[in-house]
Order: sequence, then C-alpha cells, then structure tokens
Amino acid sequence: MIIVENLRKKFGSKEVLKGINFTVNDGEIYGLLGPNGSGKSTTMRILSGIITDFEGKVMVAGVDVSRDPMKVKEIVGYVPETPALYESLTPAEFFSFIGGVRRIPQDILEERVKRLVDAFGIGKYMNQLIGTLSFGTKQKISLISALLHDPQVLILDEAMNGLDPKSARIFRELLFEFKEEGKSIVFSTHILALAEVMCDRIGIIYEGRIVAEGTIDELREIAREEKLEDIFLKLT
Ligand code: ADP
Ligand code: MG
Repeated sequence: MIIVENLRKKFGSKEVLKGINFTVNDGEIYGLLGPNGSGKSTTMRILSGIITDFEGKVMVAGVDVSRDPMKVKEIVGYVPETPALYESLTPAEFFSFIGGVRRIPQDILEERVKRLVDAFGIGKYMNQLIGTLSFGTKQKISLISALLHDPQVLILDEAMNGLDPKSARIFRELLFEFKEEGKSIVFSTHILALAEVMCDRIGIIYEGRIVAEGTIDELREIAREEKLEDIFLKLT
C-alpha cells in the first residue's frame, strides 16, 4: 500500500530526512517511533501530499506522491499533530464543510458523521464553536474529519496525544476496524508503549534515519544486541 524509498528532505541547508526506506502492507498499522525532532511529522506530511518538494520515491496506493499530490490527498486521511480546524465553525458546520470539499453525498456524510460522533460521545458539542472545545475533543473532531471520505490510508501523527483512556480505547477499536478492511495506517508516536499496543510493525526513526525495524519483540531483541538501548530509553 505504501512504499518509501530513499526519502530525503532538507529545510534550507539542514537535512532532516536522510534516506528513509519502509513499506506498509495492506491491512497493516506501521509505527514510526522516535523522539522529538527525529523527522516523524515531516515524513507524515510528505505521505499526505502536503510537502511535495523532497527527494526519493514515495508511492501511496499506487500513486506517486511527488507527481500527483492532489490525488494522494483524496485517498489519504491525515490527522496532523496539532488539529487544524476552523475554530469559528461548529463541529456540525465543519463536517458539512469537509463533506462539500470531499464531494461526499449528503446521506453518506450524515450517516458517517453520526456513527463516529456517537462512537466518541461528542454529540453534545456539535453546535458549539470548535475554538471553545478541549484539545481532546478537537483531536476527535480531527480524526472524524479524516475518516469521512472513507480513505484507503490513514496517516496519524501523534494522534492519540491528549485522549482520555476511554477515547483512546474507542480510537483503537476504530483503527482496528479500519485495518480489518485491508486498509493501511501509518502511526507516528514518541511513546514506546503506545507503538507497542497499536502497531503491527515499527520503524524506529532517529535523526532522520530508520535505524531499526520490526515487531516490538524483534526490536527488543535488537536492542539487547546493538546500540538501540539509548534510543529506547528516550522513548519510555
Ligand atoms: P518529529 O515530528 O519527529 O518531532 P519533525 O519532522 O517535526 O520531527 O522535525 C524534524 C526536524 O526538522 C526538526 O529538527 C525540526 O526542527 C525540523 N523542521 C521541521 N519542520 C520544519 C520547517 N518547516 N522548517 C524548518 N525546519 C523544520
Ligand atoms: Mg512531530
């Protein structure tokens, strides 16, 4: 579903991605686990078609991201690290705005909004201004808005930050449902325990490179043999 080959990105003269390689299979949750500043958000923005000037090859569901970023935006659901919402709209207005932009038929939109809003139990906030809501509620709105067009791929950048345990559980169930449908998720986090419960495979990203990759058990094994210990310590 996703192929990343020798991905490099510079901001000015500073190279923040130094040749990233990974693939994500259909129905897989792939974790990008690394400390702050390691390059997770930059990678996620590239996968979502937001940053388009980079070197290397990035394919998402058969689409070459550097050639057709607009197409990538159509097939991907992206949840940024900080929710990017219209603070002066209500959630109801915002979802209907997303439905318009994404050209989602009205009846389908209403059904999806209702299902997701009910799942998160945020129906009572539907007519309040987004700007007045808590970070956690905004995070839920952000996730819902990323799911409304039924994307094939979800790019979740630290998306579980700020969620209470119950919401985190609901969130997890939604993501597991999503991958049961054969869809793929890239899940970035700086929290080892979160990657452990959420991800099928994990790439440890450190200073712009994937320094190790595998299941959590495989990574623990590698950490004992090699010098991953220090990086692991930063992630717990
Ligand atoms: P992470 O999400 O793992 O914390 P980021 O991808 O946000 O890492 O950042 C990686 C590096 O790139 C950091 O050193 C950060 O300061 C730098 N960086 C990120 N975005 C920009 C930008 N728009 N302009 C300049 N430097 C940036
Ligand atoms: Mg980040």
